[in-house]
Amino acid sequence: MILDETNHIFKEKTDICIIKIKDHMEKRGVDVLKDKRISKSTAFTAEEKEQMGLRGLLPYAISSQDKQKQRVIENIRRKESGIEKYIFLSALQDRNERLFYKTVMDYLPELLPVIYTPTVGEVCQQFSHIYRIDKGFYITPEDKGDISALLDNWPEEDVRVIVVTDGSRILGLGDLGCNGMGIPIGKLSLYTAGGGIRPEYCLPVMLDMGTDNENLLEEIMYLGYPHKRLKGAEYDELIDEFIMSVQEKFPKALIQFEDFLTPNAYKILHRYQDKVLCFNDDIQGTAAVALGGVYSALRITQQSFVDQKIMFLGAGSAATGIADLMVKALVQEGLKEEEALQKLWFVDINGLIVKSTVGLMSHNLPYAHDHEAMGFVDAIKDIKPTILIGASGAKGVFTAEVVELMSSINKRPVIFALSNPTSNSECTAEQAYTWSKGQAVFASGSPFAPVHYDGQVFIPGQGNNVYIFPGIGLAAISVEAKTLPESVFLVAAAELARQIHQSDLDHGTVYPKLTNLRTISFEIAVAVANHLYDLNLAKLEKPRNLRTHIKNMMYDPSY
Ligand code: NAD
Repeated sequence: MILDETNHIFKEKTDICIIKIKDHMEKRGVDVLKDKRISKSTAFTAEEKEQMGLRGLLPYAISSQDKQKQRVIENIRRKESGIEKYIFLSALQDRNERLFYKTVMDYLPELLPVIYTPTVGEVCQQFSHIYRIDKGFYITPEDKGDISALLDNWPEEDVRVIVVTDGSRILGLGDLGCNGMGIPIGKLSLYTAGGGIRPEYCLPVMLDMGTDNENLLEEIMYLGYPHKRLKGAEYDELIDEFIMSVQEKFPKALIQFEDFLTPNAYKILHRYQDKVLCFNDDIQGTAAVALGGVYSALRITQQSFVDQKIMFLGAGSAATGIADLMVKALVQEGLKEEEALQKLWFVDINGLIVKSTVGLMSHNLPYAHDHEAMGFVDAIKDIKPTILIGASGAKGVFTAEVVELMSSINKRPVIFALSNPTSNSECTAEQAYTWSKGQAVFASGSPFAPVHYDGQVFIPGQGNNVYIFPGIGLAAISVEAKTLPESVFLVAAAELARQIHQSDLDHGTVYPKLTNLRTISFEIAVAVANHLYDLNLAKLEKPRNLRTHIKNMMYDPSY
């Protein structure tokens, strides 16, 4: 095992095992075991133990990585709570990084809910109490003017993906201040596990602008900047300094904005998306995963996208992001923008959004049609949507009446209940299949178990953003993208739908198996990378074989 000058690990055929570190000094003994990037723990061979001064520091038996992985999963399964599983895995990540990623990759469906939602939500809430190992990078208003210098403290020189939050809207949990750091850490683990982004390329950032959460401000253990949130021009200036400092220090880095309060999320995205390599996963990633699911659903119903009429329940950031991307998709299919907008309808808490609705926000205006005001059920009867998408956060609002109505209008109604967590879903998978008598093409935001109905097995797909962001990130860094235009998310959505097999569609599933995530991310990366070359948005000269180039970029945690 040899490291090059940037500390990348190469597997060598040679028997000679020397570990070089950046400054060309050799690591030996406990220093090898303490280095998460190179330690193999009980997997070091007898020869390696001899050469690295490890004899006596490890038990006699030599475990294969598979055996170690088995030991890890046994330990995880022994722990009863999600948060204990998380703490165990997090410690493994700091001890033996390759074993951590190998385990997460090989047990992704089981471990995704541990390293990300729902457990990560609990982790963020408990952050100040379970804090153990220093991970990630924290910036506060006191660092104003120094952010560039501060970034020099980060030990890696070649950062390629940054996930940054200000902790203001963590999942559905509101303002968690600095405790939101669990989100960038978790997301970046998924960039590596799902998209093969090298762990040393990843930088989790907490822009700790304070918090308006009084409970946190009063909490004695709170680790964040203990002041009210920075707002207005001061907030914008700190964001701007951060973005500029990243451009200077890590010019190849993709910046992913995560869990910002909706108005700030849109403002920041619109300010930087044409100038800097960045995107917002809550808006653009969600949109791509939902559109990809709809494309797959239409493979089941055998209909074309331009013939659909889509109704959203909930007119917040998720639904609006999805609708905005759908407009672009319809325009790409030949419709005029006005025609595309007419196919998309929104119902919010006070009923159908129409021109006369009072108090509309700017993002609602394009979808406020000239139509009579009415409630949700009447709107379904009147508008007759073919696709119903729930992003309201409101449990149970897709009632039996709603699902039956959709089934009376459509032979195969497409019903997506995207609200998280499972307890907030607009309807359950079982309800959708039962009430529609097995006709609904259903997907959800949170996972549901397979449903047996009338002799058939339906496997509901989960519209998880993890299907999209690792592939986008891999494409961006593989071609050294300049920016990511909206069309990138259309390409990713279409490729996601292509990745689903007929055998999945036969069970009503509109998302591919999570166990295939590496392949899905790779294929999305290839499609997006080709698109970026077509748009002249890649800084790197196009390699002769793009697929091989991207494959070679992918991190393999096997020893
Ligand atoms: P948001 O707060 O911006 O929007 C929610 C909207 O729903 C608001 O406009 C609210 O007024 C409306 N609403 C609330 N109750 C309603 C009701 N009973 N009837 C009609 N409208 C109602 O939130 P958001 O960020 O848009 O997220 C919404 C939901 O979507 C959340 O549960 C979130 O977990 C989920 N989501 C899922 C995915 C995914 O599946 N990949 C991604 C992002 C968000």
